[in-house]
Amino acid sequence: MNGTAPTSTALIAARNIVKSYGTGANRFEALKGVSFDIREGESVAIVGKSGSGKSTLMHVLALLDSPDGGELLLAGQDTARLRGRALNRTRNRTFGFVFQQFFLTANQTVLENVVLPLRIAGVARGERRRRGMAALEQLQLADKARNKATALSGGQKQRAVIARALVNDPRIIFADEPTGNLDSATGAVVEDILFALNREHGITLIVVTHDDDLAARCDRRIHIRDGRITTDDGARPTEGAVA
Ligand code: ADP
Ligand code: MG
Repeated sequence: MNGTAPTSTALIAARNIVKSYGTGANRFEALKGVSFDIREGESVAIVGKSGSGKSTLMHVLALLDSPDGGELLLAGQDTARLRGRALNRTRNRTFGFVFQQFFLTANQTVLENVVLPLRIAGVARGERRRRGMAALEQLQLADKARNKATALSGGQKQRAVIARALVNDPRIIFADEPTGNLDSATGAVVEDILFALNREHGITLIVVTHDDDLAARCDRRIHIRDGRITTDDGARPTEGAVA
């Protein structure tokens, strides 16, 4: 059912995650003890108002930032033990990222942007090109491979970002407001692509959004308010779970 992982092992297990910004009087607790399990193949929306802690939570889950307290297990492994190269390798091989602001390098070609994770992983040039073109073909952007990233429309940019997220065959795609900068028709296309990847390739999809329609399409919604989970409609009773 869930690939090779035993069904009892969550792909992501967050236990009482705490994260603060600043120090002293300026200290602000953005996450105040957040716990849940995410199973492989789920699509999960993290929902809440602006400032509720959604992006902070996603950055912690994606190992872009470390929590101040609590425990984060990835496929049963304690992520606190990951440092330096091992941390970068895990992030690069396991995750794909789709952010609202695209984060494409303007003066590079579309193909160069898409193969960046492969360059980081040390994949040889020919193989990079082959896999980059395959990802672009999947997103129907092969004809734009040699164009500069700036020459793309908003929807094409986000498709290029998805191609880049896919190029490493990730287990999890993290999307932070992936349709936030797109008109609704273009946004719908991007949503369809993300959900097709989830359904057809079993890629776990974790999407931060304040778009109710996008959230409704996910298997599950985790609502956050002021750094705490208020409701989680996909939670399973967990032994020793923190309320
Ligand atoms: P959301 O994504 O739900 O809008 P964030 O996770 O970005 O919320 O932010 C949660 C809270 O943490 C907000 O009050 C925000 O102002 C604060 N915050 C986020 N990033 C920083 C930072 N780098 N320094 C200080 N405060 C931050
Ligand atoms: Mg945010």
